[in-house]
Amino acid sequence: MRVIAVPVLSDNYSWLIIDESDGVGAIVDCAEVEPVLAAVEREGIRLVAVLSTHHHYDHVGGNEALAQKMPLRIYGNADDAGRIPGLTDGVREGESIEVGKLRAEVLFIPAHTSGHIAYYFPREQAIFTGDTLFAAGCGRLFEGDPPQMLNSLRKIAELPAETRVYCGHEYTVRNLEFAQSLEPDNKAIDDKLAWARARRRDGKPTLPTTLASERETNPFLRSDVDELRASVRHLCPDAVLHETAEIFAATRRLKDSF
Ligand SMILES: [Zn+2]
Repeated sequence: MRVIAVPVLSDNYSWLIIDESDGVGAIVDCAEVEPVLAAVEREGIRLVAVLSTHHHYDHVGGNEALAQKMPLRIYGNADDAGRIPGLTDGVREGESIEVGKLRAEVLFIPAHTSGHIAYYFPREQAIFTGDTLFAAGCGRLFEGDPPQMLNSLRKIAELPAETRVYCGHEYTVRNLEFAQSLEPDNKAIDDKLAWARARRRDGKPTLPTTLASERETNPFLRSDVDELRASVRHLCPDAVLHETAEIFAATRRLKDSF
C-alpha cells in the first residue's frame, strides 16, 4: 500500500491509498474534487472508493461531485446515512472493506461526531483517524463527552505501536506547542516539535505519525502521566481532578482556549 497526502482546503488532508498490485486506489475523505483528481491522474491509478470518516463538510464536501466523474463506492457509517453525501455502502464496527487487495477494518470512534469511524489496515499497519486522533492532539467534542472520546482514543492507542496514523488535519505544530506547555521536561515533545516546525518550513506534511510517537507526545493519551496531571491541576485549581477522565476533560478545555 502506498499512501499519498493530498492537501485540501486550508489545513485538511485527503489521503490517497493505492494498492500497487492492482493499480486501484481509494481516497480517505474528499473535501475537494480537483486536488484529488489531479493526484489520481498523476499516479495513473483507477479510483474505486471514497472512505468517509465523518460527516463534516471539510471531509465529505466533494463526495457527490467526485462520484459524478467516475463509478465509485462511497463508504461511511451506516448510522450517518442522512449526513454523508453520496453514501453507497454504510458500514459499522467489525465490518471490513476492500480496496483491491487491501483490507480495512472499521472502528467506531465517536465523540468528535456521534458517527465517527476509523479505517484500520492491519496488514499494512496503518489507520486513518479523521478528526478523532491527531498528531499530538484530538478533535473537539462536538457530539460526545470526555469519557466517550477517551474510550475512542484508547481503542486506537491499543493497536500495535508501529501503526502509522493518518489524520485529517495539519495541526501538529500547534498541538505540540500545547503539549510542551503541559510537559516542559518531555524531551520527546521538544524533539518532535523541532522536527515538525522544520517540516512545515519546507512545506511538507508532518504526517503520518505513529502510535509509539503519540504515546510519548500526545497529551490526550497521557492523562495518567504525573507531570501532565500536575500541570493540569495547577492550571485548573478549582476543578475536581482525580479520575483519568476528569484530567482528560480539563486537558481538552485547556486546549480549547490555548
Ligand atoms: Zn470534523
